[in-house]
Amino acid sequence: MTLNKPTSQMFPWVDKTVNPIRGRCPHQCSYCYVKDSRAKHLYQDEPHLVESALGAIRGKGKTVFIGSMIDMWADDIHGGFISKVLARCQQFPNNTYVFLTKNPGRYNNFFFELPPDTMLGITLETNEYENDFSEAPDPAARAWAFAGLPLPPYKLTKFVSIEPIMNFTYPPLGHIPPSLDDLIKDIKPTFVSIGADSKDNKLPEPPAQKVSKLIERLSEFTEVRIKPNMKRLMVEKKEGGGKR
Ligand code: SF4
Repeated sequence: MTLNKPTSQMFPWVDKTVNPIRGRCPHQCSYCYVKDSRAKHLYQDEPHLVESALGAIRGKGKTVFIGSMIDMWADDIHGGFISKVLARCQQFPNNTYVFLTKNPGRYNNFFFELPPDTMLGITLETNEYENDFSEAPDPAARAWAFAGLPLPPYKLTKFVSIEPIMNFTYPPLGHIPPSLDDLIKDIKPTFVSIGADSKDNKLPEPPAQKVSKLIERLSEFTEVRIKPNMKRLMVEKKEGGGKR
């Protein structure tokens, strides 16, 4: 059974999560939560579609997050698997489907297969990595690809997930990549969700002052949804607290 209650999942506003594509996620993020999950044994071999798991996509009126344990839009995932998942979603068009990726360029290839009520998201942990945390496309490249995604003639919500938030820079005007909020502004997202590392992954995290500034800037043009685990970062520490 792959229809899970939203217990410790990414987004509290999601009703169900479904993972019909399984196997090793090609991005191999250093902070990946899958390695600590009880289901990690399902995500160690070659990416594959579990056809029987498609049955968990059904019903109506639910917000269904598809692909929480592997980036199903990574280049290494067989396009036929993605098409089968989307075809199943199309059979139940009265749900809202949520997809999240670090490779938004791939959304383009399946644009006309998306179900009618879709929320497309990208993860941007920062505007640029200070170290190598993932084999996914660079954060700025993700943002630019997502900003360039055409809007279809039906309901589509674009959102950005900043999670786990990592330290980010405020570079001078004209610098590439620009600031995190400028990257996000170009995307024109309906909302931005911000969350922190919930494990002890020793990530470079921004200080509270910088987080506040980011939230203030994002709030000027979009809705900002702050996850409870951000409390830890939003309290000014007496010492340390990340680089500025
Ligand atoms: S993209 Fe998500 S599932 Fe894939 S390695 Fe990174 S954190 Fe894990």
